[in-house]
This record gives sequence, structure tokens and C-alpha cells, in this order.
Amino acid sequence: MSRLRVIVAGAGIGGLALAGMLRRHDAEVTILERADDLRTGLGLTFWPNAAMSLRSFGEDMLDAVRTVAQPFDRARMKTVAGHTVTNIDLSRWLTRYGVAGLGVTHSDLVGALSDVSGVPVRFSAEVVSVTEEGQVTLADGETLNADVVIGADGVGSAVRKAMLPPGKAAPRGPAMAGWQGVALDGGPKFPGFDVVFGPTGVCGILGLAGERTYWFMQAPADAPPDGDGWSDTVKELVRATPGDLMWRDSARDRAPDRNWGRGRVTLLGDAAHPILPTVGQGACLAVEDAGVLAHRLVSLGDPVAALRRYEADRFERVTKTYKRARRLRQMQQLMPAVRNPMVSTVPDGLLGRMFTESAEPIAEFR
Ligand SMILES: Cc1cc2nc3c(=O)[nH]c(=O)nc-3n(C[C@H](O)[C@H](O)[C@H](O)COP(=O)(O)OP(=O)(O)OC[C@H]3O[C@@H](n4cnc5c(N)ncnc54)[C@H](O)[C@@H]3O)c2cc1C
Repeated sequence: MSRLRVIVAGAGIGGLALAGMLRRHDAEVTILERADDLRTGLGLTFWPNAAMSLRSFGEDMLDAVRTVAQPFDRARMKTVAGHTVTNIDLSRWLTRYGVAGLGVTHSDLVGALSDVSGVPVRFSAEVVSVTEEGQVTLADGETLNADVVIGADGVGSAVRKAMLPPGKAAPRGPAMAGWQGVALDGGPKFPGFDVVFGPTGVCGILGLAGERTYWFMQAPADAPPDGDGWSDTVKELVRATPGDLMWRDSARDRAPDRNWGRGRVTLLGDAAHPILPTVGQGACLAVEDAGVLAHRLVSLGDPVAALRRYEADRFERVTKTYKRARRLRQMQQLMPAVRNPMVSTVPDGLLGRMFTESAEPIAEFR
């Protein structure tokens, strides 16, 4: 049987994970990346659902991520006054899966997945159009063909635009914006993951490998935050963050679509279903997508049927996670005077469950 030829548009977290998984099954994979280098970025929570998806293609795929990440086995939600709303013990995941939460920078994760994938990335290769028959056109006019084409090209996906009728990609929620940074030496060392409800919204703090700490904070756009009104820990973190490791970012979501592919083409990760970062799952879902898609391509003889099966198998899962992320966002958006007393009275466990349910591995990766 001839080798499956796969083109992946986008060397982000989802595209690189998929490339590594398929290469382990002898597929001929080409990764096309618009940028001239791997994207850099700040911190991420990486959960067991993504870890188990990687592991299902070999322990080395998960080990590559572990090497660059800081493990944690508890997550807390607190008010700025210091009241702990929820203290989530994640050690059951350690016992069951050997991994609980991982704190990692986006760039370290992309670097690790690129190394372990074993597939060289073709940089400065911008995909501008795709046909249902599996033909890809690059910005310089070059055309390439494959048995299947995967749009892993993020929230503004060119593959999505080429495949879906005009208007379908359009409705997207309002942007969720905030500041984020990585504190280096001198900042407080942070072993876990905290979400703090404070004066201007939510602040997250996540320990990273190499004694670094990632933080994000909803705060006004006009100037970088100084931590005023937050706890001393937050102020210290902001102080220990160099200017070039602090920036403003925003995220948008879009209700998942039942049909996100056609013919020999499908989408994966943010290209298919961007979600808000409130549940810390966008990258994890991309890796989970990659696992399900790679398994379907490997196990079903007909690649087009495999793409349609993958889309059908993912719809419910990603829709649930999208909705959960929105619900958490609505709760975060309440006026602090309403929200903080309210979250303080939420029965212990309810908020935690909302947050961690999506992080539980799907049945086929348990
Ligand atoms: C503030 C913030 C915090 C977040 N926190 C978390 C978290 O804690 N946990 C988590 O799991 N997720 C988190 N996310 C979400 C996560 O970053 C994304 O969901 C994830 O990066 C999506 O991965 P992807 O591979 O689908 O797309 P991307 O990472 O966007 O990668 C797409 C790639 O495609 C390339 N590309 C784009 N267009 C083209 C083209 N036309 N041709 C070729 N290449 C192209 C891009 O350059 C890029 O390299 C967060 C997001 C934000 C904004």
C-alpha cells in the first residue's frame, strides 16, 4: 500500500502534534508554516486530556513536553482578599495517568513538539487556497497535492476560508483581552496554578520550568499593569517581568460548526473551533483533535471517510468545552462587587468541576 501523503498547514501546537503522530505511522507529512520561524508565546496549562493524546502515539511524545514543563498537582481559585474559593486536588490524575497539570510556555511547547515530531517544517510557506481534491496553493504560486490536507492554521485559518461558504466563519464572540508576562529571577517561586478574582477581573499565576512564573491579568489596555489593587505576590511578579516578556493579548471564540471539512480537507484546533482561554483548553483540544484525527487516518482505509468520522467524533466534545469556557467567562465578567462574594459562596467543588471536566482524557485515551 502506498504511504498516506498529508499536508499540514500551520506549525502550531496542533499541527506539530499531528505531524509527529502520523510520522510514527509512516505517513509522508509536509508541514507548511507562514512564519519564518516557530511562533513564540507565553504560558499555557497543559492538561491530562492532551498528555494522554500524545502518549497514545508513544511515551516519547509526552516526555518531550514534560522535559520543558513544570508539573503541578493542585489548582486554587481565590479572591484577592485571600479567601480560597476552591482548592482542587489533581493528584488523582497523577495516580491514574502519571501526569496532572503541566505549566509550559507556548514557545517551549512548540519547540518540544517540533523536535519530537521528526518532520522538518517548511517556513515562509503561506497557504492561500485549498481545493476539496487536496490541492494547496502557496502565496508564491507553488502548488502541492496530498491525499489529505489539514488546516491547523489557527483562528484566522486560510484553509477554513477556502473551504466554507462566505459568512460561515464570520460570527465570533467579543475579544477577551488581558496582559500577560513571564517573571524571571527575583520573582516569587510558584509551584502550582492559581486563579485570583480581583479588582479588574481575573489574574492567573502558573509556575513554569526554570524558576519562571507566568501570569495573566485582565486589566485596562492603556498601560502595562503594576499589580495595584492585587496581592503582594502579583505585584512582585509584575515587577520581576522584563518589558519584552510582558504583552497584551486577546482571544476570540466561535461556536463550533458541525461540518468543518469537505472532500480531502479538514481543520484542527483553533482553525476549527477557537475557544476562550478561561478553561485553559485551546491548545489541549488541538492536541486531542490531532490524536483522534491521526487514529482515524491510521485505522480507516479510506482517508476521506476518516476525516468525516473525525469531525463527527469531535463535535460534541469541543462544543461542550466551548460552552464551559463561555460560562466561566460570564461569571468572571460580573462586577467584582457581585462576583467576589458570589464565588466565595459557591459550594466547594462546583467551580473546580467546571474548570477541570474538560481536562479529563476522553475515553479512547484513558
Ligand atoms: C491569553 C491566552 C491564554 C491561553 N491559555 C491557554 C492555556 O492555558 N491552555 C491551553 O490549552 N490553551 C490556551 N490558550 C489557547 C491556545 O494558545 C490556542 O488554542 C492554541 O495555540 C491553538 O493551537 P493551534 O495549533 O490550533 O493554532 P496556533 O497556535 O494559532 O498555530 C497556527 C499556526 O499556523 C500558522 N499559520 C497561520 N496562517 C497560515 C497560513 N495561511 N499558512 C501557513 N501557516 C499559517 C501560524 O503562524 C501558526 O504557527 C490561550 C490563548 C490565549 C490567547
